[in-house]
Amino acid sequence: MMHNRHTKTGTGPQCPYKLLKNMDKEVKPWSTTCYLMRGAMFQSTIAREASAEGVGLHTGMFGHVRLLPAPADTGIVFRRTDLDNFPIEAQGHNVARVSYATSLMKQGVLLSTTEHLLAAIYSCGIDNIYIDIDSIEIPILDGSAEPFMQMLEHAGVRKLRRKRRYLKLLEPLEVEEGDRRIGIYPADEFRVRCYVDFPHPLVGQQEVEMVVSPDTFRHLLARARTFCFERDIEPLRSMGLIRGGSLENAIVLTNDGVMNGPLRFPDEFGRHKALDLIGDLALAGLPLLARVEAYKAGHALHTQLVSRLLADPSLWTITTGETAAVEHEIQLTTLSPAPATD
Ligand SMILES: [Zn+2]
Repeated sequence: MMHNRHTKTGTGPQCPYKLLKNMDKEVKPWSTTCYLMRGAMFQSTIAREASAEGVGLHTGMFGHVRLLPAPADTGIVFRRTDLDNFPIEAQGHNVARVSYATSLMKQGVLLSTTEHLLAAIYSCGIDNIYIDIDSIEIPILDGSAEPFMQMLEHAGVRKLRRKRRYLKLLEPLEVEEGDRRIGIYPADEFRVRCYVDFPHPLVGQQEVEMVVSPDTFRHLLARARTFCFERDIEPLRSMGLIRGGSLENAIVLTNDGVMNGPLRFPDEFGRHKALDLIGDLALAGLPLLARVEAYKAGHALHTQLVSRLLADPSLWTITTGETAAVEHEIQLTTLSPAPATD
């Protein structure tokens, strides 16, 4: 079944999607173009446009996505260009139904599978950006955030004159559901820890912990792809999901192995879950100064955490980049080197 999809949906033998404008020719090393997220004083946007196109994982609908610079205090805003540029802000209050992907909805206008693109934008410290999309779903591309990182590298970063604002946690908040849980705790940086446990010989228990920055995201998480179990394919199809799924945009796990190896990391599954987590945390609407720990969580718990957090302003305060930068310098003297995640 997946093999049939694979030949039907691919636009070429190697590449099931397209990054437009030959952007790979212009890519500079990220370290020379990146804008430091932690402690940065000023807001940022992208310097120029970047585009890509491809099918949506769940709807199978083909769409074009275009990233555009936006003025200070815009935030991350999707615009449905097929609906008169209808704007949908990437914010907790616009979260719609959440199951196998995160969907936003505003006044009945839906946008699905926002998490991988948001993970890349948020990790790169882009505060203001328009994301124009002419479809109901963000293209899945290769199932990871790497193509989105390439778009952002092509787009470059532009510093704006307005002070950056951070959402700084003051009190912890935890959400539980059965044996799954997620918590957010005060910290002077944005740190995530993500634990997964799937009963499968290639997965089992995997854990990722890192301070989120453009570089850590790029090197540790961006290339990790989405995955599903072969036994779930038919049930998901019958629910109207993964209509755009193929062996080129998702790892498919059989009972004892992987249908379309090789894996990009031995623990690609845990890394992808951490990527998903960051993409959902972007819905906080501001860069976080907080530590987030997720234990067997998924989109539903991630977004519940964000919604409850935003609903209770006694848990956090808004600080500017200046304050955050000073606090960060103090913190640096006591920090041990970043832990390895392998
Ligand atoms: Zn994902």
